[in-house]
Amino acid sequence: MKNRNQLNNCLAPIVISLLIFIFVGCAALEEAQQRKQERTRQQQQERYVTFERPTTEIQMAEDGLMLESEHYTFTFAEDLLTHPDYDEPEERQNVGRGALLFMESLYSYVHDIFGFEPEHQLIVNLRQTHHGSQHLATTSTRTQTVYRNGGWLKIVQGIEMDFPVTMFNQRDVRAHELTHAFTNIYLLPTWFTEGIAVLVQVEYARGKSFRRLDLHEDLKTDLDGRNAVQYWEGHLSRDQLTEWRYSYSYSIVAELKKRFGEGFYPTVFRLMEADQLHQRLPGEMTTSFLAYYLSQAAGEDLVPFFEELQFDVRRITKEQIMAAIMEANQDQLGR
Ligand SMILES: [Zn+2]
Repeated sequence: MKNRNQLNNCLAPIVISLLIFIFVGCAALEEAQQRKQERTRQQQQERYVTFERPTTEIQMAEDGLMLESEHYTFTFAEDLLTHPDYDEPEERQNVGRGALLFMESLYSYVHDIFGFEPEHQLIVNLRQTHHGSQHLATTSTRTQTVYRNGGWLKIVQGIEMDFPVTMFNQRDVRAHELTHAFTNIYLLPTWFTEGIAVLVQVEYARGKSFRRLDLHEDLKTDLDGRNAVQYWEGHLSRDQLTEWRYSYSYSIVAELKKRFGEGFYPTVFRLMEADQLHQRLPGEMTTSFLAYYLSQAAGEDLVPFFEELQFDVRRITKEQIMAAIMEANQDQLGR
């Protein structure tokens, strides 16, 4: 954390011994916190495996086309209605009910990991194919830009998740997509948003699709010599480079979690939430902007870490972020 106290070399001995005492106290406290975090993590994993069902109320339409629970609206797309497993209202009600009980449990699980939740109810659409594919699930967040208190602000209008049945049946894929539903509101760089989603998918939901890579030996760069995950824009195709991008992004995110502990990402999101600057940026967050918050949460400058991995990244201050936002506002007003 930014305000973490550091020992000052010029202090008188008596003060040093006092500080050492405090330091030891802090170390013990940190250990206790780590133990607590480890316990919480174990409990979360056990809960995930035993698939504990929360008591949740589910409202359902008589035709079974739409069901609602506390955090979700669940629908069946038209292309499923001729499928023999979903063509009767009762079948849809049973499938929808089971899906919502599981998704509510997953919701509180992801909420526990990050410490925040989306403001909106999540819309989940189950379908036979999505964009013509049975192997593509997406989570999209609709935002609207409004002028408020002298500046432009991105406001989330709704979050929608689309799953072909084959993807919905994989629990780790649901965990991946639900992580997007939670984090999309921060308009993070694609590499980071996918890295976080794969982290939850692999390390918490025990998915087997991606593996940790060596950040130096397995590094790939683009033609400009920059890390090939940095300007990744999306994941609609699944070629070899895309597979590498998922795994490499996950490896960066996992490395930072290993270095700075379980509480690191909740702190990153808490700091971003407190400033609300992501909402005022003209576009997607840049890696330099993200590195600012990661460094704040880590209590150390992480720009050298990213430079070593061939990221095109700059050390920026909050004043520079504010100035860039002001400039973008003026551009938008001048249009
Ligand atoms: Zn994803």
